[in-house]
Amino acid sequence: MAVIAVDLGKCQGYANCVVAAPHVFDLSEAGKVEILVDGVDPADREAVTDAIAACPAGALRLEES
Ligand code: SF4
Repeated sequence: MAVIAVDLGKCQGYANCVVAAPHVFDLSEAGKVEILVDGVDPADREAVTDAIAACPAGALRLEES
């Protein structure tokens, strides 16, 4: 199952990812992205791909495992 890799150093808290896939991404109180899932369910894949593309900071990546 694919997993989402995050570069918190790049994340600027724009929350585009949260808007695109609110059941997968959240924002911490520190304004950084939080991943709510351990792996990407195939049913969520399109939403996750959209969320990654929507991140203006390039902080998200999909890693195939
Ligand atoms: S869209 Fe990118 S910069 Fe914004 S919260 Fe999500 S990971 Fe961080």
